[in-house]
Amino acid sequence: AAGVVIVGAGQAGLQTAASLREAGFADPITVVGDEEALPYQRPPLSKAYLAGKTDAEGLLLRPASYFAEHRIAHRRARATRIDRDARTLGLDDGAVLAYDHLALATGSRNRALPVPGADLPGVYQLRSLADADRLREAIAAAGRAVVVGAGFIGLEFAAVCAGRGLAVTVIEAAERVMARAVSEETSEAFRVAHEAMGVTFRLQAGVVAIEGHGGRAAAVVLADGESIPADLVLVGVGVVPNQELAERAGLAVRDGIEIDAFLATSDPAISAIGDCARFPTRFAAGMSRGDRVRIESVQNAIDQGRCLAARLTGRPSAYDAVPWFWSDQGRHKLQIAGLAETGDGSVVRGSGDAFSVFRFRDGRLCAVESINRPAEHMAARRILALGRALTPAQAAELAFDLKALAT
Ligand code: FAD
Repeated sequence: AAGVVIVGAGQAGLQTAASLREAGFADPITVVGDEEALPYQRPPLSKAYLAGKTDAEGLLLRPASYFAEHRIAHRRARATRIDRDARTLGLDDGAVLAYDHLALATGSRNRALPVPGADLPGVYQLRSLADADRLREAIAAAGRAVVVGAGFIGLEFAAVCAGRGLAVTVIEAAERVMARAVSEETSEAFRVAHEAMGVTFRLQAGVVAIEGHGGRAAAVVLADGESIPADLVLVGVGVVPNQELAERAGLAVRDGIEIDAFLATSDPAISAIGDCARFPTRFAAGMSRGDRVRIESVQNAIDQGRCLAARLTGRPSAYDAVPWFWSDQGRHKLQIAGLAETGDGSVVRGSGDAFSVFRFRDGRLCAVESINRPAEHMAARRILALGRALTPAQAAELAFDLKALAT
């Protein structure tokens, strides 16, 4: 047998390989990845690793010995071509691998900032271990950091820099931070927390250029003419799915590789999982963009890897995991269960530095954002999974027993 070939040696790809072996899958498994490092976790790149609190060894998803022990071949190469008729995958080193099943776990890449000067030395992205290593050096040498984009990665980066004593300015086009992902209440709490750490915000501000001095980025220029001096610039303006390999093979793509509830693409011999895949989910029911989503989170990558491995070993089930996510910014730990969008209602439970925002769509609980409230986050995950009914009044009432509802 040709076995399973997995493109992308990241969170989703490696989980698929590991879960296949755990389920007793005996055929060959090959994981093809275009990064130099052994498969690693990305979340610490903008948290503990960036802050120098853990080393590269501490990021590894599995120790180096794991691959040979579990007969998982890890090939460092870039997959360039899928031949669906022949069921082969072409690599940039000239090799051609046969597959019985192909899993696409190609992840996403950072969106580029389309302004003059964005390619100057001193302008950084944060996605890979190599990016984080460059940034660790840059932070050590910098006094002023400018962050373009107040999303999760931009704000985590800002928190680490502020903690290291840098002067930090965050520039955001929207009127509030993390606007796409969280409620106004959560945005406000995080803006205030960052300001308390010394971070300065320019909201509703557009970047028109990055100015160089002596061949390096020296300032970020805003649409209103303001120029903000910078020793380093981090661009964190969202990601795009790595779908070109699938697209060239004629698979359906639309902001991600289109998959069904069982994670299969339009070719039953090919599946897609993780950041690169767009799938239907009951948790997106009623959302303005429709009930198909692409989710960039460790939870989604791991659970989809497990779900695919189960199907390939004879235990098929529709993917139905509750989406959840976390972000650590200074002393504030944000945990989100479910999916919400701007316009969904919100009710706050708790106050100060520890509260949860319960989000409602069409009268039903759709998401819970917890700030320093891990027990409420865990209860929320269960309540959403079970589809339990909760009213806004119950959610706001501290005496109401959420834990009981979650069991
Ligand atoms: P990835 O882990 O990105 O792996 C995809 C791999 O495929 C990459 O190595 C890529 O180089 C490779 N690849 C792509 N195309 C090819 C090809 N043609 N041939 C060979 N290899 C290829 N999520 C959370 O839930 N919580 C967090 O706190 C959090 N923090 C994050 C912080 C940072 C800095 C980043 C970058 C991400 C963070 N995430 C977080 C998101 C999370 O890491 C991703 O959702 C997760 O890694 C997705 O897994 P994946 O396997 O789909 O993609």
